[in-house]
This record gives sequence, structure tokens and C-alpha cells, in this order.
Amino acid sequence: MKTAEERRGFMSKALIAIDNSGSYRVCATITTDLVREAVKIHDCTPTAAAGLGRVLTAAGMMGILMKDPDNKLTVNFKGDGPAQQILATAYGDGRVKGYIANPYVDLPLTEAGKLDVGGSLGIGELSVIRDLGLKEPYMGTIALVNGEIAEDLTAYFFISEQQSTSVALGVKVERDFSIGAAGGMIIQMLPDAREGAVDALEEMIGKMEPVTSIISRLQDNAKAGDAASDAKAGDADGNTDPGFRPLSEAGLVREMVEEIFSGMPEEYQVKVLEERDITWHCDCSRQRIEQALMTIGVKDLTEIIEEDGQAELQCQFCLKKYHFDKPQLQAILDSIS
Ligand SMILES: [Zn+2]
Repeated sequence: MKTAEERRGFMSKALIAIDNSGSYRVCATITTDLVREAVKIHDCTPTAAAGLGRVLTAAGMMGILMKDPDNKLTVNFKGDGPAQQILATAYGDGRVKGYIANPYVDLPLTEAGKLDVGGSLGIGELSVIRDLGLKEPYMGTIALVNGEIAEDLTAYFFISEQQSTSVALGVKVERDFSIGAAGGMIIQMLPDAREGAVDALEEMIGKMEPVTSIISRLQDNAKAGDAASDAKAGDADGNTDPGFRPLSEAGLVREMVEEIFSGMPEEYQVKVLEERDITWHCDCSRQRIEQALMTIGVKDLTEIIEEDGQAELQCQFCLKKYHFDKPQLQAILDSIS
């Protein structure tokens, strides 16, 4: 029997919308489930959870904004701070995976009482690699603006892709270290954007609440609604545990976007083009790990066989361990020598 979490599938809902005048497009998502899963796998401190959660949320949205389902992109933050590196890889079909080099990074809150993601990364750079199935992947690198992720990505889009973009990301870590809410939004100006749209968006963004406040409120409302209907009938499959229902259903993302853009003039109101999923998924396999072993070379592989007689390799993304005994290592060595 599948557990409730397996049935839920760590899916986070997203949507892509465009405004009536064709001036800009929006990608919005609620990634509470996805970030909970990643933080559980990597056993993150609150600071690490905020950093990894923001990067996964951003990569997931940038992934579904690509044209083809098998297009791939990697977002790589590297710095001289204690977190060292936060990396996420996403596909056009909404799959995303990621890791933080030091999930135990623990810094005091900033003066504003926020988790210090910028301080955890320190001074460094952001690289984005887009693999669109062409001969060469496209890579752009910029210096980190402040390491808070959203501002760095906004700068990346402007500098490396000549794209006027606004990125908002949020991960709310509760007092008991659980993830209360996570999500984000990317607004991208389109080539024929009207000037009025830019002004209206600037005004809207200036007044906008943090995304996690909006998501928390919507989740609480949905839970209250679920509890009321559960009390009446229970779920269709007899599950009456109110914690089972996925929190980030498509309806919530729609509500989030409606709420954020409700004050915009009619011509710049948004309509939904697509509803999508962003899911945690690691595509590692024994075969891929074997290929990695082949690349270390005859000399090093011989050394491992003679000195250790075995090897255990771990996937950086999902932490799954792959064990190789002596005959298996010997077979790999034979295939490359
Ligand atoms: Zn893996």
C-alpha cells in the first residue's frame, strides 16, 4: 500500500499566464510540498532550507518556461560563505532536483529578523547552464548581487539574457523547523511591452506582500475548508486525515495570481495559459554512477580496487548510495583499459 506521501508525489502546482495586452508573462508556483521533500532528504537547517528551497523553486519555474519537455537547465550558486554551493537542475517537463553543499549551515538571523541566505553564500557567482539539445549548452555567469537568490536571478536575466524580469521567491520556516510555505513568481516583459505595463507592474510589486505570506494565508484557508468538508463526508477513498490533502493544488496558485494582480488595470490583468506541475525527481541510476566511475581513469580505479576492494558512491541530489564490490569494479576497469 502506498503511503499518503507517495500518493501525493511531492507535486507542486504552477501556472503560466499572460496579460491582456501581451506585455508580460507570469510564472507562479506553490512549492511547499517540493521544498519539504528536499529539506527532508538533505536534513537542512532553516538557513539551508531557505536557500535550497528558493533555488529549487526558481529552477522549477525557469524549467517549465523552456520550450521542450526535455530541455534542461542548471542553476548554480557558488560562494565563499559557509553554504559553499546551492545547485538545482530542472527539466522542461517540471522535474527538478538540487542540493546544498553544506546543509548544516547555521547563521544568526539578519538584523531584519530574516534567515541569512545571502550571508550563507557570501561573495561568489551565479551560473545558469541551458541545455536546449543543441551542439553546445548556453552558459551565463554573473557575480552575486547579494546571495538572496531572487535579486541575483533578476540581475542574471538582465545581464546575461537581456531580459527584463522580476523574480520573487520565498520559503517560510516555522519555529519547529518545518516548512510552512514555499513558492515564487517570475514576471518577464515581452518584446512589445507597453510602457504603461511596466509602470503598473512596478507599482504592484512595490505594494506586494511577501509571497510566503500570501501562500500561508491561502493554505490556511484551504485547510479550514478541507477540515469542514472532511467533518461532513471524509475523502472519497475514506481517508479522513486532514494532513493528507495536498496543500498546493492548482486552485491555490490561481488564487495567488488573482490576488496579486487584482489591482492591475483591465488591459494588464492576466489570463492563465497553462497549468503545470513542478515535481521533485532524481534521475540517478546505477548505470550513470558506473559512467562516473569510468571517468576517474585506469590509474585511480586500479588504486581503489587494490586498496579498498570496493566502492560506495552517493548521488549528490537524492543521497541514494550505490555499492560496487571488487568483481564489479574489476569489470568496469576491464571495460576502459
Ligand atoms: Zn539521485
